[in-house]
Amino acid sequence: MTQIPLTTDERREKYRQERDKRIRPDGNAQYQEPFGRFSNLLLDPYTTVEERKPVSDEVTVVIIGGGFAGLVTGARLKQQGINDIRIIDKAGDVGGVWYWNRYPGAMCDTAAMIYLPLLEETGTVPSAKYVRAPEIYAHAQKIATTFGLYENALLSTGITRVEWDEDDSRWIITTERGDKIRAQFVAMGTGPLHRPKLPGIPGIDSFAGHAFHTSRWDYEYTGGDATGAAMTHLNDKRVGIIGTGATAVQCVAPLAASAHDLFVFQRTPSSIDVRNNQDIDPKWFAGLDSGWQKKWMMNFAILQTGGFADEDLVKDGWTDISQRIRDRLVDLLTEGSEFTPESFLQAYEASDDEKMDEIRVRVDKIVRNPKTAEALKPWYRQLCKRPCFHDEYLQAFNKPNVHLVDTNGKGVTRVDALGVWVEDEHFDLDCLIFASGFEVGTDYARRSGFETTGRNGLTLSEHWHEGMRTLHGIHSHGFPNLFILGITQGANLISNIPQNFVESGTTIAQIIASVIENNYKTVEVSAAAQDAWVARLETNTGSVFGDSNCTPGYYNNEGQPIGVRERRNSIGYPEGPIAYFEYIDQWRESGEYAGLEFI
Ligand code: NDP
Repeated sequence: MTQIPLTTDERREKYRQERDKRIRPDGNAQYQEPFGRFSNLLLDPYTTVEERKPVSDEVTVVIIGGGFAGLVTGARLKQQGINDIRIIDKAGDVGGVWYWNRYPGAMCDTAAMIYLPLLEETGTVPSAKYVRAPEIYAHAQKIATTFGLYENALLSTGITRVEWDEDDSRWIITTERGDKIRAQFVAMGTGPLHRPKLPGIPGIDSFAGHAFHTSRWDYEYTGGDATGAAMTHLNDKRVGIIGTGATAVQCVAPLAASAHDLFVFQRTPSSIDVRNNQDIDPKWFAGLDSGWQKKWMMNFAILQTGGFADEDLVKDGWTDISQRIRDRLVDLLTEGSEFTPESFLQAYEASDDEKMDEIRVRVDKIVRNPKTAEALKPWYRQLCKRPCFHDEYLQAFNKPNVHLVDTNGKGVTRVDALGVWVEDEHFDLDCLIFASGFEVGTDYARRSGFETTGRNGLTLSEHWHEGMRTLHGIHSHGFPNLFILGITQGANLISNIPQNFVESGTTIAQIIASVIENNYKTVEVSAAAQDAWVARLETNTGSVFGDSNCTPGYYNNEGQPIGVRERRNSIGYPEGPIAYFEYIDQWRESGEYAGLEFI
């Protein structure tokens, strides 16, 4: 079926209707924590925990979290000659999200050349433009091995408290395994996407079949493995999957290949653009000049955020949409319009309409059943939700064993012992998989699983009660020698998360080296510098990622009002990531570290 083109007004009206259908008063509260029947989802199914004696000692730097944030910071510290480092992670190995997410088909939507940090330093050649999760996990392990980060690490170790000892100017880190570790510095790379959340569907606890979350894939039950072996135990099973976000889009095709029947319960369809993966030729790779990765990362970030470059090195869906917006804006300016927020919005919406029409036409071209195709079309702007890129997801719905259960924006009605209800239709299931995402909007302490207490008993949760308060997203007043590793209140480059970490890891390592070299005890941001930074960031009122006109999701606080707290927890540098990278480079290289107080 060929889509009849809509006028701009008709498209807006359709977007509004689809959004309104999905708005619910409970917002984030619709989700439930994995307790009770699902409390095992907070455990580590991949590693058997070895008994060991509690550790009681002192190190120079504790890094909390062995994902790319922690690993890159560890590597940069080693490069600065600081060797007394300890990574602590509740997971049984390094890798962060790539340790936990082993679901079939898992891969990264951002090109490996820029996504995998420290490729040059580790001598790693990615196998393809987009690589699969096991290769990414192996790269994390390689960073740890290359920089000796395993040596002192405490893995399978959940932290319970992080407290500042004012008398000694040390952090005291307590763990659930009885450890008590003192550290002069702490770097926290706890990540936003690691605590699974479940849909708060009535009766979810009563399901008598097998159930798990995608970030704790149960290969023992399904058969197969993370490298793509067929999940033969599902051959006679009726499998349901709840959720159609970036994760489900990747695991539906392998499930479709193995399950007897697969029921995909959809509330909101994702936008699925072309993937077009290609192998990387090692000979071509070997010919790249030294320093190529920084150049590639910057080229991508410039183009993805609307800038100009002589060539598009990565050339993918991320850079495509931004270049369309940029070129339209240039056309408007050439035609005599002035650059105003309205002209930007006009260029943005026109490019987005074009892109989303292409995406909807693509559904029609691929999916044979017209009713299924219609239901798989996304009706919102592309950056309202995580854009997806895949060449097998839509195709899976042509298989006779794959059934799209569209819930018309309402979600699954309820669950009982035997399966799932959508309105008054029941679906018998042997296995129910939750591709329902992660806690993003909840308190930092709840997500990381521990509280951090700074000077005068002030906790980070209290200090950030009205939203994050930092300088550069890294330093918070009242928390000396503590460094936060994230993207918020810094570059906030969402399309390539590790690039944010490469920058902040470099900055943090240099600051710590400076404290040690000069025999200072502490480094801390002044209250004035912290507040000035937040005030400066708050001048940034625009965001192309999820605004209140978008269909609800975690990009826009589930469609609920975005108050001071939510804004502070998601803003970045007003002039954008590239300006931030330039700014932080100068700030760091000046050696003055304006805003920080060294004692
Ligand atoms: P998401 O939070 O993006 O998706 C959750 C899904 O569950 C949504 O489709 C949601 O629907 C659905 N859902 C929730 N409640 C119900 C309900 N009651 N009934 C039916 N459906 C329901 O989680 P993901 O794990 O998919 O992705 C999380 C993030 O992880 C991504 O946004 C991305 O940043 C990252 N990721 C990155 C990848 C990469 O390539 N780099 C790959 C995979 C994930 P609705 O949309 O209506 O809310």
